[in-house]
Amino acid sequence: MQEPDTRLWIGGQAVAGQGEPLAVENPATEETITTVATPSDEQVVATIAAARDAQRGWERTPAVERAELLHEVATRLRAHAEELAELMTVEGGKPLVENSDEVGWTAAAFDYYAEIGRDSAGRVIPSIEATQLALVMKEPIGVVACIVPWNYPLLLLAWKLAPALAAGNTTVCKPSELTPLSTLALAPCLEHLPAGAVNLLAGGGDVGGRIVADAGVDCVAFTGSVETGKRIAATCAERIGRINLEMGGKDPFIVCSDVAERIDVAAKGGAWAAFLNAGQVCTSAERFYVMEDVYDDYLQAFVDYTGGLRVGDPMDPATDVGPMISGAQRRKVTEQIEAAVSAGADVVIGSDRGGQERGHYFSPAVVTGAPRETELLREETFGPVAPIVPVRSLDEAIELANSTRFGLGANVYTRDLQNVVRCLREIKAGTVWFNDPLTDNDAGPFGGFKQSGLGRELGREGLEAFQETKHVHIETEIAPKEWWYPYAKGD
Ligand code: NAD
Repeated sequence: MQEPDTRLWIGGQAVAGQGEPLAVENPATEETITTVATPSDEQVVATIAAARDAQRGWERTPAVERAELLHEVATRLRAHAEELAELMTVEGGKPLVENSDEVGWTAAAFDYYAEIGRDSAGRVIPSIEATQLALVMKEPIGVVACIVPWNYPLLLLAWKLAPALAAGNTTVCKPSELTPLSTLALAPCLEHLPAGAVNLLAGGGDVGGRIVADAGVDCVAFTGSVETGKRIAATCAERIGRINLEMGGKDPFIVCSDVAERIDVAAKGGAWAAFLNAGQVCTSAERFYVMEDVYDDYLQAFVDYTGGLRVGDPMDPATDVGPMISGAQRRKVTEQIEAAVSAGADVVIGSDRGGQERGHYFSPAVVTGAPRETELLREETFGPVAPIVPVRSLDEAIELANSTRFGLGANVYTRDLQNVVRCLREIKAGTVWFNDPLTDNDAGPFGGFKQSGLGRELGREGLEAFQETKHVHIETEIAPKEWWYPYAKGD
């Protein structure tokens, strides 16, 4: 692997950070890959000013030209796919194959928004009188801060950056302190854009907090934990700054009796949904509710499949599950499992180091008998753990599915039409997947109910998140209106 470029990208220039150094760890080896210099306070202010200076020009650029420039970002991303996927693997621990997919999806998001961005300036609405024209115009908000976590560093950035740019905004982007390298490596994919349209910083919550608090930032698009999201919402409320928040989840996965014949498929789908990226997906399946008549078969198939997964070096193409992101994240998962076991749960398989000596490895775990009130069934785990719970009826499954403060996604395995319609109507979640867990669609809005989010990414909603709406009312004649004063006509 080439030595990563650790410079920030500000106003169209690669710039050395003048703030605190940030060591970036390889979670598979616990070794430091390199050190990134974060921006000083002055550099954060200068970055926001660079985005502001670029905004009017970018807004005035014809939409078709903006589309071409965004397609060019997608082309460059594909050309740099290998290098970007390797960097994400080394700093994030996700298996290389998953990171290669991520670069492809990142490019696809730019292509998607390049097109709908040039097809979405607003609409003409019926006017009040025949001599009038009435319009709804969609305008950019201004400067958008894009703040993202470490689990899908490029994809979650693209879901903000691509629509924000397509709508005519300029941006200040801050990746997680754990995965800055792949984001800084985006500079060659963005350098054909006008200087200042996209700026790439690095740093932790301190840098994020400074960006969010700056009155020069008109909108904050954030993905991360509920706790950070609440803090950002509180800061922005002071100036009524626009926010779009994508936060945590505790997604349920329901298995109905009618899939008895294909229980192996429902088990494989469930294991993949629980263990993908070592369970560090916001829409990971974190609670399994299985009808009691298929419970034993489901559990057996799930455990057998889990036992065959390969835990190891994320650069190895044979690896299914890599390390977790950090020691802290691994500890949180271990503590949740220990608390569940103290409350009576059993670990059927996994929950060890997967045979690895170094690195934040945690082998995929299946847990049964966890009481309903344990954290493992109520709060986000964000690790490769599948608690499996038998249920007597679909009523009980839906009631449990809706029993947390989260509402991001939900999965159901059934082909029974009545079950499908009940679940799609009654489950309180932003996405409900039937028989195909976790499949994203650029055209399908993504986001959460309840504390999982505010607003949506992807789809037309994902573009509108970065637009202000203006109603324009035009009278073509200069003439008095009969409803003006005086009310007593002829007096
Ligand atoms: P986090 O909230 O700790 O950090 C997210 C980002 O916010 C990072 O870039 C961080 O540096 C920054 N940040 C931290 N404090 C800040 C502050 N005060 N002001 C501004 N920025 C600040 O989350 P994380 O641990 O990086 O990510 C894991 C979380 O992300 C999980 O809860 C997961 O569910 C969530 N997530 C949600 C989605 C979704 O689409 N809903 C997708 C992926 C991850």
